[in-house]
Amino acid sequence: MGKEKILKDIQDIATDPFAYIKAKKVAGKKAIGSPLADVPAEMVHAAGFLPVTILGTNEPIVKAGAHLPDNACSLARSNLELVLNYRKDTFDGFVFPQVCDTTQHLSDIWRMTIPADFFASFLIPRQVDRKSAKTWFYRETLRLREQLSGFAGAPVTDAALRESFRFYNEVRALLRELYGHKRAFPGTISNREMFDLIRASLFMDPADLIPLLKAFKKEMTEEKEEKRLLPVVLSGIAVEPMQLLNILDDLGVNVVGDELIVGSRMIENDVSENGDPVEALTARHFAKSPYSPIRDRGTRLYDHLVTLVEQTRPAGVIYFHIKFCESQDYDLPDLKQVMREKEMPMIVLDTEYQSVTRAQTKTRLEAFVESLYGERENG
Ligand code: SF4
Repeated sequence: MGKEKILKDIQDIATDPFAYIKAKKVAGKKAIGSPLADVPAEMVHAAGFLPVTILGTNEPIVKAGAHLPDNACSLARSNLELVLNYRKDTFDGFVFPQVCDTTQHLSDIWRMTIPADFFASFLIPRQVDRKSAKTWFYRETLRLREQLSGFAGAPVTDAALRESFRFYNEVRALLRELYGHKRAFPGTISNREMFDLIRASLFMDPADLIPLLKAFKKEMTEEKEEKRLLPVVLSGIAVEPMQLLNILDDLGVNVVGDELIVGSRMIENDVSENGDPVEALTARHFAKSPYSPIRDRGTRLYDHLVTLVEQTRPAGVIYFHIKFCESQDYDLPDLKQVMREKEMPMIVLDTEYQSVTRAQTKTRLEAFVESLYGERENG
């Protein structure tokens, strides 16, 4: 199978995972959906289910508006809409992470509005430097293990967990390798392709994805792109709509680093395959990069971006702000100031899943990239 075919197979699932999920269900797997953020997929997988991260829909909002105010973040509205209106029958159950005020309220709305055979809340501590945070996360993970065991009708064993760790660690390692290749040989993997590979890992059973990623890796060449691509770093939670990545490709930009949740934060760090598995999941969670609603000291988020910028030396930073995300709203003034102090050009793009301003976003992106090219030529 050539590179194009492998890529197409993965990208088809990344773009529209529902045919894949349906096929798994026909084969006897139950699908457990989790709105974005920090539910340990390994635990769901070890219980014998297909973990699926719910990443919203670009389809129109028809029903979610009746349950959420207009100023609820675009991700929350879009996720609720996806399950209420478009994919109600896809999921056998849900594990709902609570990471911010919106998800806290949404969890109750979700539980009351969407009938499912299984529903578990997963309460994630927001201040990770509190003494109690690790114990809390550990106990929540144990609680999830018990709940999933109950739904599966059999205990989630340590052996099953370790096997799931091996699978997911391998997926993450392969994706990190491919990302490294993209950095070293710009142009061999486009921005859209790289983020589609990562996205597919949020829907696919690792046993299906690993052979595809390995085959794809074998097809990698070490060609140098003739045209020098402009290095940039992406920040925020997710790039939505995904077509913005195609625009970056068209503009001659190479993403050399990111701190997106649907990005590097998903593939950094592995789970230790030794010792207490719940402890190992807890350790991975606390080793992850900060995320707008989950952090310790106030400056950690900014320090992380500064370090990434220093390591990857981009020409600029593109920050994706999900419309009405309160957590990101709190971060932005300080983040902008820190980037100004570092003399690092940064653009903030307001995005929403049902984007009606895509043309405007594209124009702003084009102008920003053009200004970076201008600076590079003059500097
Ligand atoms: S963190 Fe922001 S984008 Fe995520 S659910 Fe909360 S408000 Fe929405």
